[in-house]
Amino acid sequence: MGPVGDNGECTEKNGGWTKADSYICEKETSKSQTPIDLDPNLKLSEEAPIKLSNAAKYTFPAFSMKNNGHTFSMMPKNAQDAHFSNNVHQYNMYEFHFHWGPTDDCGSEHAFNGRSFSMELHLVHIRHEFGTDLVAALGDSTGLAVIGLLIQAVPGFTEKCIMDDIAKHYIDNKEGLSTVGKEVEIEGSGLSFKSILEEKGHVYHYKGSLTTPPCSEAVAWYVRREAVQCSPETIAKFRTAITEKGSSKPLEMSFRRLQRLNDRVVTLVPLNE
Ligand SMILES: [Zn+2]
Repeated sequence: MGPVGDNGECTEKNGGWTKADSYICEKETSKSQTPIDLDPNLKLSEEAPIKLSNAAKYTFPAFSMKNNGHTFSMMPKNAQDAHFSNNVHQYNMYEFHFHWGPTDDCGSEHAFNGRSFSMELHLVHIRHEFGTDLVAALGDSTGLAVIGLLIQAVPGFTEKCIMDDIAKHYIDNKEGLSTVGKEVEIEGSGLSFKSILEEKGHVYHYKGSLTTPPCSEAVAWYVRREAVQCSPETIAKFRTAITEKGSSKPLEMSFRRLQRLNDRVVTLVPLNE
C-alpha cells in the first residue's frame, strides 16, 4: 500500500484540521476511513460499469452555500432529481463541496501513488430509501455514496472549467460567507456538472467514510481516475474565500490526510461505457 498521512508539502499543516476534529475521527474502532492512496496502475475489475445516465439532471440553478468551517457546503434546491445507481442501490444527490490546498501540488484528499491534485469535488448522495434523512443514512454502511472528481491546475489552461462558476459565486458572496455558519442563497446560476459526468472514464470504488467529523463509515466511494483540468487562477480563488475556525486567517487548505487501507479492497470500474 502507499503512503499514509503524507499529502506532500501540505502534511505539516494537517489540512486545516483541529485537535478536536482528530479526536472525533481517530478512534480505535475506525477501520474504513477516507481518503486513501489509490494505485494509478490498478487493473480493471470484472464488476459492472457505473453509468451516470442521469447526468443532465446535475444542473443546479438554485442552491444554498454554507461555510461549515471545513469547506463550503452547497445544497441544490432540485438535488433529488439528480441520482445514479451503483447497480445495487439508487443514490440521490444531497450536497456537494470542495477540498483545496495552499499550492497547486496539493489539496485533493485522494492521491495516486502519493501524488495529490490541486482540488477535489465531492458530490454527496443519500441512498433513496433514506430520503433526506442524513442522520439515518450515516448509521448505515451503505447509507451514502460520493462521486469524487480530482481537479488539477494546469498553467496556461484557458478553457472553461466547472470551478469557474463556483469560484465566481463564492467571490461574489465573500462577505456573506466569511465566517463559520454563514449561509447565502444562490439563484439563477448556470452551474452544471452534466458534461463532466457524461464523459467516459474509470472510477475507483471502495468502502470508506466522510472525511470531516463525524467521519462516519457509511460511504460507497466512486473516485474518477481522469482528473478535471482548470486554470491556476480559478483554483487560487478558493484559498482566500473563507476563514479558519475562530480566526480571521484565510482557510488555505481543507483536506484530510491519507488514511490506512487496512483490509479493504479497491476496484477500478469503467464509467459510462
Ligand atoms: Zn469532501
